[in-house]
Amino acid sequence: MKRAEKTKYSFGIKGRIVLYFTAFVLLMLVIIFVVQIALVRSFYSRTRLRELDKISSMLSDCAGSDNMEERAYSLAANYKICVLIFETGSIGNGSETVSVESSPVCIIHHLPDNILEQYYEKALANGGKTVDTFGMYRPDGTDDAPEPSKGSIGRHGGLIKAVSVNIADGADGKKYVVFVDSEFTPYKTVDSLITYQFIWLSGLIIIFAVIAAALFSVNISKPLTEMNEAAKKLAKGDYETGFKPKGYRETIELAETLNYAAEEIRRSDALQKELVANVSHDLRTPLTMISGYAEVMRDIPGENTPENVQVIIDEAGHLTDLVNDMLDLSKIEAGTKKPEKTVFNLTEAIGEVIDRYSRFSLHDSFDICFEADGDVSVCADKTMIIQTVYNLVNNAINYAGDNKMVTVRQKLLRDAEDNAGQMTGKSCVRISVTDYGEGIPPEKLRDIWERYYKVDRSHKRAHVGTGLGLSIVKNNLQLHGARYGVESTLGKGSTFWFELETVADKENS
Ligand code: ADP
Repeated sequence: MKRAEKTKYSFGIKGRIVLYFTAFVLLMLVIIFVVQIALVRSFYSRTRLRELDKISSMLSDCAGSDNMEERAYSLAANYKICVLIFETGSIGNGSETVSVESSPVCIIHHLPDNILEQYYEKALANGGKTVDTFGMYRPDGTDDAPEPSKGSIGRHGGLIKAVSVNIADGADGKKYVVFVDSEFTPYKTVDSLITYQFIWLSGLIIIFAVIAAALFSVNISKPLTEMNEAAKKLAKGDYETGFKPKGYRETIELAETLNYAAEEIRRSDALQKELVANVSHDLRTPLTMISGYAEVMRDIPGENTPENVQVIIDEAGHLTDLVNDMLDLSKIEAGTKKPEKTVFNLTEAIGEVIDRYSRFSLHDSFDICFEADGDVSVCADKTMIIQTVYNLVNNAINYAGDNKMVTVRQKLLRDAEDNAGQMTGKSCVRISVTDYGEGIPPEKLRDIWERYYKVDRSHKRAHVGTGLGLSIVKNNLQLHGARYGVESTLGKGSTFWFELETVADKENS
C-alpha cells in the first residue's frame, strides 16, 4: 500500500501553545496598561478636586472665627495649598484677611485684582462655589514665573493647578471669599512610576508566561508525541506496539481507542495470515490428489478404475464445499446475507437431509437415525437451517466413533429458557445431533466455533474439514437469535444443539 503523503506542518502543538499563551498575556498587558494609565489620571484628578473642595469647605466653616488664620496655616502645610481670604467688599491683593503662600507657583497670589473679582462674581452666580483648573508652563524650566494657561485637567508638560473659590458666611456675621490654590503636579511622577513599574512587571510576566507555556506545552504534547511515534511504528507493521494511556482524559481515551484499533489490526492480520495458510493448505491437498490420481489414470494402464474416478469426484466435491463455505461465511460476515424467513416444516426438512445422507454410498455404513416427537413448523430461513443441520450431521459423521452411529433428535420444549436462563413461556423446538466419537476437550469447546479452528490439526484425511462448518452454524443461528451449544465428554462423544421458536407459539403471542 502506498504510504500517505507526509504533510508539512509549520507549527506544532508546543509552538502554538507558547504563541497563544504569549499573545494572550501581551493582550492582557496592553489592556491593563491602557486602562490603568487612563483611569489613574482621571481618578487622581477627581480625588484632588474632592480634596480641594473639602479644604475649601473647612476653611469656609471657620471663616470669621478666631482660629481662621491658624486653620488656614495648618491646612496649607498639610495639603501644600495656598490660601487667600477676603471680606466680600475688599477683594484685591493687599487687602486680604488671611494669606498663606506655601508654593512658589501659586496662582491666586499673582492674579490681578480684577480677575479675583471675576472669580468672586462667578462663584456668586454659581451658588457660592466655583473651581477652575490650569495647565502651567515653565518655559525656562524653573519653578518661578509660571504662566497659567487655562484649560482642562491634563498633561501640559508642566504643572496642573486648580483654584477653588468659596463664598462663606463668617462666624462674625460678615461675608468672606475663600480662594484656595492647589497643585495637581504628581501626574508625571505617578505616570513614570506606573510606567516604570509596568515595564518591569510586564517583563517578568512575559518571562513567566513563556516558561509556563513551554512547560504546559511539553506536558500537553508529550503524550501526543509518544502516541504519534507509536502510531508510526504501527503503520510500519509493528503490530506489537502499544499506546500508553497517560496524560489527560482526551489522550487517555485516544490511547485506549488506538489500543483497541491496534488490537483489531493485530487480530485481523493474524486471521488474514491464518486464512491464507488454511485456504492454501485446504486447496492444495485436494488439488494434489486430483492431479495425482488423474496422472496415474492417464499414464498407468488399468488404473482407470471407478474407485480412482470416485476419489477425484470426492476431492472435487471437497473443493466445492470449501469454496461454498468460504463464500457463505464471507457473505454472512459482510452482513450481506440476511435470513429470509418463511414458515416451513422443520421435521420434514431434517428428514430430507438425513435421507440424502443415507443415499450416499460413502456413508452407507453409518447409522444415522432421526427421533422426532411430532411435526414442528418454524419461521426461519430454510436454506440456513438446512445448512446448519447439514454441517452438524457432517461433523458428527466425520468425528463419529467406531459404532458409526449418529442420532438426530427433535424435542419440543413447552416453556423454553431464553439466553439469560429465564423462562420465556414460549414453545421451542430443540434439535440435537449426537455422535459417540472421541469428544472435544473442555478447554476447546469455546474455540471450535471460530472459523478455521480445528481441534486436532493432524486429524485423519477422511476427517479433513474446512474448519468453517461450525463458524457458519454459529453465524446462521445468531442471525436467527437462536440459542445453541455443545455438550461433549471425552471418549464418549458430543451433542451439538440449537433451539428455534415454533410457529404455533409465534401466532399465539
Ligand atoms: P471442520 O471442517 O474442521 O469440521 P468445523 O468448524 O465444523 O470444521 O469444526 C471445527 C472443529 O471442531 C473441528 O475441526 C473439530 O476439531 C471439532 N469438532 C466439530 N464437530 C465435532 C464433533 N462432532 N466431534 C468432535 N470434534 C468436533
